[in-house]
Amino acid sequence: MKIGIFGGTFNPIHLGHTALASYICNLGLVDEVWLMVSPQNPFKQDHQLLDEAVRLRLATLAVRDFPRLRASDFEFHLPRPSYTYVTLQELSRAYPDDAFSLIIGADNWDAFPKWRNADDILAHYPIIVYPRETSPNPSPLTPNPKTPPTNCQLPIVNCQFLNSAPLYPISSTAIRTAIAAGDDVSPWLDPAVLDEIRRLRLYAQ
Ligand code: ATP
Repeated sequence: MKIGIFGGTFNPIHLGHTALASYICNLGLVDEVWLMVSPQNPFKQDHQLLDEAVRLRLATLAVRDFPRLRASDFEFHLPRPSYTYVTLQELSRAYPDDAFSLIIGADNWDAFPKWRNADDILAHYPIIVYPRETSPNPSPLTPNPKTPPTNCQLPIVNCQFLNSAPLYPISSTAIRTAIAAGDDVSPWLDPAVLDEIRRLRLYAQ
């Protein structure tokens, strides 16, 4: 199978994440998308970052009705901090019959040359770059390999740049802030995720 790796802290996972992941599956670029939940970085104390097991649980709830999406704890079992090139290498080792690609936002693509072993990732894994802002008149929803969003010096042969993608105007940060303020976040979260956040009183002040 072709599997797209979509990494994030997912603190918490929201509808923007699942919409984008299923959009990429539906484009036919990959058979499945694995939402790779980042573990805690022992060198970076972030008090807002929920325990990784809880973030994984929320992600698992969010994908339960998407047969082609999977919440993955694969990085929990790797050395920390987790580096994407290590994750991809270990995935290829653990699943030799599958082909992995990396899904990143245009914002991350701008910083990509600074990622550890970026050249190595580019040499071995296709990259799917999605826009972080929706164009006002999206052209047909097809990948366009010729329009990198930035002036990157790295070879882009193995990259696909999506013209358009369903981008919810929301972030996990905004959701955490809204929950702490007692605001309604139901438009942005899967109902089961919201129930679990309420049940465990997550992100509340
Ligand atoms: P935070 O606000 O805590 O930084 P986030 O909402 O950006 O979180 P991440 O966990 O960093 O979520 O998400 C993983 C990836 O999902 C990011 O690389 C980001 O590009 C992408 N992403 C985040 N929000 C959206 C959105 N609304 N639509 C599409 N993609 C998104």
